Amino acid sequence: MNFAIINGKLVNRSEAKVDIEDRGYQFGDGVYEVIRVYNGKMFTVKEHLERFVKSADSIGITLPYTIDECTALLEELVTKNKLVEGTIYMQITRGTSPRNHVFPARDVVPTLVAYTKEVARPVESFTHGVKTIFIEDIRWLRCDIKSLNLLGNLLAKQKAAEQGCFEAIQHRGDQVTEGSSSNVFIVKKGTVITHESNHLILKGITKEVILQLCAQNNIPVEERTFTLDELVAADEVFLSSTTAEVMPIVEMNGDKVKEGLPGPITRKLQTLFTLEIEKQCGRLK
Ligand code: PMP
Repeated sequence: MNFAIINGKLVNRSEAKVDIEDRGYQFGDGVYEVIRVYNGKMFTVKEHLERFVKSADSIGITLPYTIDECTALLEELVTKNKLVEGTIYMQITRGTSPRNHVFPARDVVPTLVAYTKEVARPVESFTHGVKTIFIEDIRWLRCDIKSLNLLGNLLAKQKAAEQGCFEAIQHRGDQVTEGSSSNVFIVKKGTVITHESNHLILKGITKEVILQLCAQNNIPVEERTFTLDELVAADEVFLSSTTAEVMPIVEMNGDKVKEGLPGPITRKLQTLFTLEIEKQCGRLK
């Protein structure tokens, strides 16, 4: 049997249902996280749960559990579902109450849901890299909140998919922000450059791990906005996310990035990132 968590209880996945007046369903009034599991162990779980609490706090939802309680619940879910390699999806909404834009009374209990999915590491793409398009960033101005409202991201990702691409790199005017579900990095003359973590992007957990790895390995970093011209002129380009890890970008808008192969710093960061996974979760096959 496969299990899900609804409000602290493990239930049969096929019986896990929420009300049609759940505010997540009607308004996208909630926040979420995706946590990677390798070898049955959660990777950077503390960082993900801290971001979850922060996202929830910023829209006035209080998590009814401590981070330790949440971790224990998720561990139980992974064990019960015998998940070896995959993801945990979790979301919290403002709860169920008669439809009204105004927040419901304080006694309405938030709905917390979590379930797991088996997902293999995209090793083919790690080796060969992926293709991307560019797209104007039409999202709101609080992209630092991991909100359930993902329409802007979905429209961008769909456009990419329709053109046979893995990701859409978004930009506001000539300033590059991030992918539809990833952070974007360029490498120029040995320096790794990525958008600073402000309200225009999500502060990726993978991004933070990569920045730590750069610091530990004397790879220079600049956290700042960069332009489309810089992106096009970059020596290497890669993206990062919980499931895509360190993913080389080898084509943008139909043009190859350099020779169309993953670059040396991207490769080095892939190796360092894999070692970091193994440090936390044990040896990968
Ligand atoms: N930006 C956006 C818009 C995302 O959806 C994601 C994926 N969660 C990321 C960045 C990367 O974040 P993380 O490394 O925490 O998965």
